[in-house]
Amino acid sequence: MTFKDLGLSNELLKAITEMGFEQPSEIQEKSIPTLLETEKDYVGLAQTGTGKTAAFGLPMIQQIDTDYRAIQALILCPTRELCIQITKEMTQYAKYKQGVSIVAVYGGASISDQIRAIKNGANIIVGTPGRTIDLIDRKALKFDSVSKVVLDEADEMLNMGFKEDINLILKSTPAFKRTWLFSATMPKEVEKIANTYMEDPFKVVVGIKNSSAENIEHKFCLVNGRDKYFALRRFIDHYPGLFGIVFCRTRRDTQEVAEKLMNDGYNADALHGDLSQGQRDAVMGKFRNKTIQLLVATDVAARGIDVDDITHIFHYDLPDEIESYTHRSGRTARAGKSGISIALISPTKSSKIKLVEKQIGKKLDLVKAPSGQDICGMQLMKMINNVKEVKVNEKGIAPFVAQIHESLAEYSKEELIERFVSVEFNLFLKSYEKASDINIDPSRIRQGRDRDDEGSGRRGRDNEGRGGRRSSGEESANRVFINVGKMDGFENKGQLLGFICNQAGIDGGSVGKIDLFDSFAFMGV
Ligand code: AMP
Repeated sequence: MTFKDLGLSNELLKAITEMGFEQPSEIQEKSIPTLLETEKDYVGLAQTGTGKTAAFGLPMIQQIDTDYRAIQALILCPTRELCIQITKEMTQYAKYKQGVSIVAVYGGASISDQIRAIKNGANIIVGTPGRTIDLIDRKALKFDSVSKVVLDEADEMLNMGFKEDINLILKSTPAFKRTWLFSATMPKEVEKIANTYMEDPFKVVVGIKNSSAENIEHKFCLVNGRDKYFALRRFIDHYPGLFGIVFCRTRRDTQEVAEKLMNDGYNADALHGDLSQGQRDAVMGKFRNKTIQLLVATDVAARGIDVDDITHIFHYDLPDEIESYTHRSGRTARAGKSGISIALISPTKSSKIKLVEKQIGKKLDLVKAPSGQDICGMQLMKMINNVKEVKVNEKGIAPFVAQIHESLAEYSKEELIERFVSVEFNLFLKSYEKASDINIDPSRIRQGRDRDDEGSGRRGRDNEGRGGRRSSGEESANRVFINVGKMDGFENKGQLLGFICNQAGIDGGSVGKIDLFDSFAFMGV
């Protein structure tokens, strides 16, 4: 089946071909012909990442009458992120259809700019419920000519408390309009909306009902609450190319876990509601362009995030609303790729595993937090692969080669390998050399013998070796104030580290993150 077979116009075909769409996805194949041809309402049960934006966006754009200057379609979605994303995607589809104007309306941005854009002749509005209501109240949005309304991520919108807003908005649209509802899950509340506002809708289900994407591996790791942070770090260290989101239940935990990761030298940042819109945009920008490897986020802040290539989702805690599990894990395995979802579960919360399994319709596999040896082996092989793949700049190193050969002449090939590997690797070996097994034997939970120590790992382990990227250790680093800084001649952190190690006779491996200021410095120990 091709996009042409689905009945799309040449101008749309040209645009999506340019975007690299070769074949319709399942939801597109099942939905586009019906949405183009029939006047029926529609319910699509599909995750994000299945291509649902195009499934409703392409037929919607095709049916816009560009000679008629009025708002003809409305798309409601739960978050600003998703709103911007849908608008961007739809604008690309409409590239070759002259006169289609798609305007995004969402909170946290200038309302007068949005009103101006609407007045300039918007024919499709993509909005979050709050701002849409606001614009209706200001008489800037009129939906008398709207013939299609999309409710995207309907379950999320209800989870976020937009039920009343949705009802109000739908009431302001004409009776003749068609409603297209998309949802990842079908809880009773969504069904109620469907029953209230739709007549005998055409239903499309992609994948298993109320389950999460097929190509996600769902796992859980049993650890005491106080060991969760260390378990998280071990997983991160074990997958050198990992790019993921760590979900926490509260803003405080989110901030705390992000700060700990940053202190321990990881490229991480926090995304939660205590940050200003500008700060959140900046964090999302860094995550999108992969400047940060790990986004630590609350459920609400991370809703609608559409970033490709996310390899891992971590549930630092399982969500209160079990349905959010599907939304969290659906951030990975997008557009046909695969992904891994790992829930860190403490013994007292182990009964929640069954609820998640019921929600997604499959079993979670028990996975052990990697051992120190597993991690070292993995990192070592990564380094060896880097050595194999590195492009040698022969011209650049030519002036030094003779000198290098001379100075290393006394070593055999075996000794040289050992030495080069050790230069890079001693820190890692040290960080995990005393790492004990933090996994809990699941059979002991039933016997109730494990004391659970819930928390975000604040107290740290007292039985594990120090170490880590900058060797701040599985135990949280203590910060030490040092009364020297740049003004004392230390141009960079390396110089300060060298000086401290020499003076104190300590190994660089026991020093953590260094922050160097003009007249003082902080150091993790
Ligand atoms: P969505 O589920 O709408 O969020 O889409 C996920 C991603 O898949 C977006 O980046 C789309 O541009 C992309 N996409 C959607 N349909 C196709 C298709 N048929 N072929 C290739 N990519 C697609």
